[in-house]
Amino acid sequence: MTAVRTRFAPSPTGSLHVGNARIAVLNWAVARHHGGAFVVRIEDTDAERNVAGAERALLRDLDWLGLDRDEGPAADDEPEAGPHGPYRQSGRMALYRSRTDELLASGHAYRCFCSQEALEAERARAIDRGRAPRYAGTCRTLDAERAADRAGAGEPHIVRLATPGRGEVVVEDLIRGSVVFDAAEIGDFVLVRTDGLPTYNFAVVVDDLDMAITHVIRGAGHLSNTPHQLLIYAALRAQPPVFAHAPTVLGPDRRKLSKREGARPLAALREEGLHPDAVVNYLSLLGWSSPSGDEVLERERIVREVTLDRLNAGDVVFDEDKMRWLSGQHIQRMPLDALAAAVRPYVAGSAAEPLLDGPFETALSAIRSHLTAFSEAPAHLAPLLGPQGSEAQARVAALAHDEAALRVLDAVRARLTGLEAWRSGEIQAALKAAGKDVGAAGPALYLPVRVALTGEEHGPPLADVAVVQGRETVLERLKGPVRTGASGC
Ligand code: GLU
Repeated sequence: MTAVRTRFAPSPTGSLHVGNARIAVLNWAVARHHGGAFVVRIEDTDAERNVAGAERALLRDLDWLGLDRDEGPAADDEPEAGPHGPYRQSGRMALYRSRTDELLASGHAYRCFCSQEALEAERARAIDRGRAPRYAGTCRTLDAERAADRAGAGEPHIVRLATPGRGEVVVEDLIRGSVVFDAAEIGDFVLVRTDGLPTYNFAVVVDDLDMAITHVIRGAGHLSNTPHQLLIYAALRAQPPVFAHAPTVLGPDRRKLSKREGARPLAALREEGLHPDAVVNYLSLLGWSSPSGDEVLERERIVREVTLDRLNAGDVVFDEDKMRWLSGQHIQRMPLDALAAAVRPYVAGSAAEPLLDGPFETALSAIRSHLTAFSEAPAHLAPLLGPQGSEAQARVAALAHDEAALRVLDAVRARLTGLEAWRSGEIQAALKAAGKDVGAAGPALYLPVRVALTGEEHGPPLADVAVVQGRETVLERLKGPVRTGASGC
């Protein structure tokens, strides 16, 4: 069996978003599943639509997702990787020209000199008569040699494929089964424009062939291009790849995912610090599911289990909350040191920064269950340092007027003062013992301590808070509100 080769072929017209990133995930996972190759090709022939910096951003997003490529364009200073380069279409013009010559020579393509005005008039007439516009084939009967001479003399022209004009074109789609198109509706379409640039359909076929792509996995939006591409393969007497058109991703309003409606750029997810494995996990689940029914999947498991026959043809709806939930799940499963490394850039420069100098991993383990993104860490961590802001201070001050709370704080302080080891387990036991001393349990015991230490009514386990704050600070804070109250201010 030939090695499986898939490709992701973005146009550098914007950034990667959840819709096209999900096509990248599928291609990558299928290639890895079969031990094949994942190729990245930049489709940049439409120079007017190209956006400066977009290619670099796309590659950076793929790197962030961990979708390593076997072949593709050079990233920054690195050389191009792979034997089928160049991997930017703009560098492949000689190849398109030679395939054009091949098709012209075999009579499967011809030069067309019809003017823009003539073509537009023809189109308008068809629409007036309620028919789908289709090129009438005026130049198809021109003598090929004379046409070559005219072209050689500089006369503007395009190159069209001589299509069969009848019969069926059948797309055998791995997800949708056989999709039948009426060849009579496909006119002699354009392969090469007046400026010499190949059209999308032509360039894609030439590249997929030359790059020995075995599986073309792309969005359902491209399904209507596939019969055109099959006709080009046939004209080149080449075996087409296997096609799989993945279901369209819809926004929450069930309309095509647009920039406005949830199609957030990957860069925004990265900046916010969603776990990239969770994003890969979530994107893999758009139309696919694990045979086990499990939803939290490590990338190795996705690679092991992914098969295109488990992809549904039906549209799928993007659900940001689910992606965030998965991010939380992946964050829970991270080794603490990796989590610490991931949140460090967000904590540096935030109110929680001083925690970096203390038992930072203890602080993190106390709050990690609340995280769905790394950027959320500072807000959860900061209260560990002590009461933050005027509301928190006010809660602490209020303790001074609460007799029951003051009794609890005294008892806890007494128990903690004598503690030998300042560790979470021992601190927890001391808290309980203090509760027994004064007949307090549950919120009556924990709430005053929490408020005294953090100024908050909710938060991470108190014993962890105490470890992070350290013995001296804790004892001081347990005493603090009493003093304020006693002085009567
Ligand atoms: N460049 C095309 C796009 O960005 C993809 C072409 C293809 O997958 O065939 O939509």
